[in-house]
Amino acid sequence: MKVKSILSEGRQIQLATELVGLGARLQVLEASTTLSRERLIKLYKEVKGVSPPKGMLPYSEDWFMGWQPNMHASLFINIFKYITEYTSVRGIDATIKSYQLYLEHVEASNLQRILSFTRAWTLNRFIDSKVLTMTACVECKGHFIAHSLDIQSNHVCGLCHVPSRAGKTKQAALEAKAREQCAA
Ligand SMILES: [Zn+2]
Repeated sequence: MKVKSILSEGRQIQLATELVGLGARLQVLEASTTLSRERLIKLYKEVKGVSPPKGMLPYSEDWFMGWQPNMHASLFINIFKYITEYTSVRGIDATIKSYQLYLEHVEASNLQRILSFTRAWTLNRFIDSKVLTMTACVECKGHFIAHSLDIQSNHVCGLCHVPSRAGKTKQAALEAKAREQCAA
């Protein structure tokens, strides 16, 4: 019995350390492990060298509706769906694995990391509580995050219909990159 509890505690510490390393906020650690708040704060300080930020998670579901956040969040949730459908990985482990794959994809494609781990975790909660859902794009057939109350049968995703604002952001990024290369 004692050995079992030590092993289980070891696993909890390992999990919390991994989560802190990925950038998880204290609320995520509290919800995902069985460790006390005091121990989690201590662990957070040991791993990060600073105290965890105070206050509530500021995230609302509307953030996921912005053009760039929606693309990144949809990418993450497609990976998550794939993992839970084709492997036996579940729960917080599936969130961690999916987020690591999301980071690999972002890095390989030279993209900015838009989705933080805490936001990815929050996204799963919004989907579990059916505030947000997935809907298919009628043009590319890809699946994208949408408000559950705002589902339309003729949904067109942000990749098939890029808003001009997003185009400008992309153009500005390309110009900045060009300037950087000139300076180098
Ligand atoms: Zn599309």
